[in-house]
Amino acid sequence: MIETDICIVGAGPVGLFAVFEAGLLKMRCHLVDALPQVGGQLSEIYPQKPIYDIPGFPSINAQELVDNLMEQIKPFHPTFTLGERVETIERNEDKSFTIGTNEGTQIHAKVIVIAAGLGSFEPRKPAIERLEEFEHGKGVAYMVKNPETFRDKEIVLAGGGDSALDWTIHLAGISKKVTLIHRGETFRGAPDSAEKVFNLAKEGKINLILKANLTKIDGNGVLKEVHYEDENKAIQTINADYLIPLFGLSPKLGPIADWNLDIDKKNQIKVDTTDYSTNIEGIYAIGDINTYTGKLKLILCGFHEGAIMMQSAFKHVFPDKHLSFKYTTVNGVHEF
Ligand code: FAD
Repeated sequence: MIETDICIVGAGPVGLFAVFEAGLLKMRCHLVDALPQVGGQLSEIYPQKPIYDIPGFPSINAQELVDNLMEQIKPFHPTFTLGERVETIERNEDKSFTIGTNEGTQIHAKVIVIAAGLGSFEPRKPAIERLEEFEHGKGVAYMVKNPETFRDKEIVLAGGGDSALDWTIHLAGISKKVTLIHRGETFRGAPDSAEKVFNLAKEGKINLILKANLTKIDGNGVLKEVHYEDENKAIQTINADYLIPLFGLSPKLGPIADWNLDIDKKNQIKVDTTDYSTNIEGIYAIGDINTYTGKLKLILCGFHEGAIMMQSAFKHVFPDKHLSFKYTTVNGVHEF
């Protein structure tokens, strides 16, 4: 049994930064993540994408942000169980919790912080045949883990959200030929990114195909062709080394749905914004997994939620102690 003050479910950016806020208040954390590495969406979906809205960093690469967060929490010696999914949560008589994973690991904690983001990652796949045949390095990828994979290759991206726009822009400078196929005429993603994509198309740097749908893929062991239906219902063919359908991740809450938490229709955990507590005393939810009026799914919002939430968690970890708020410059960042 792993003993800790706080068990954090999810080692994405928000879970990682919460360790820092807990550490300042001398609370120990153990993090569990279903993925084999820390960093959540940043490491899994867009490690090489620049992020422009982290305070103090005009631009920072996603993986670099994760590495910096790991460096920042080092003094507090967090412990990790990676590659295991939290399955069960049980309340003990003394109000503490026992958390169990799919591999049988057990963690005993006074507080649980759910920082589970989108839950388990399940990419939405297009409704075309033979996808599985070309998955796992043979031409169909649902994420861009390393853009270098696509250097000098002919790429077809599909989708109209932020991922499709961001990767079209990024790969335009790396790949031999980039085509973006989108079923609509306008994009769901950030207007600024959409404008960049339209400009790249005007400059002839990408091939933008609107009002079109993927119909078929072809190849012999590896992907060779992508077929689509154009706006006139005619079938067209493009040579492609890779097809990257970016239709989003379907939020699969998984076991979290069974923990008696108050969850909305979109599979997000409702919280009280005074301290990001859930309907269960001692369980908090921060980052992309939670919902409240005005919620923005941004990393910086999750950081804020972690800071507020740890002040409240203090009373569960140290019921007899009084907490007075101090700046890190007064208290320092002390290893313990
Ligand atoms: P996540 O990063 O989703 O991490 C949650 C972790 O919890 C995951 O690793 C998951 O494996 C784990 N988990 C879930 N369920 C369990 C379980 N039962 N047991 C164990 N582990 C579990 N935000 C910005 O602020 N700026 C940007 O520029 C930006 N760009 C983006 C670009 C793209 C393409 C995408 C997809 C998102 C972008 N975002 C951006 C959003 C940002 O990535 C999220 O807001 C952020 O990742 C949320 O962090 P999190 O820690 O709450 O969750």
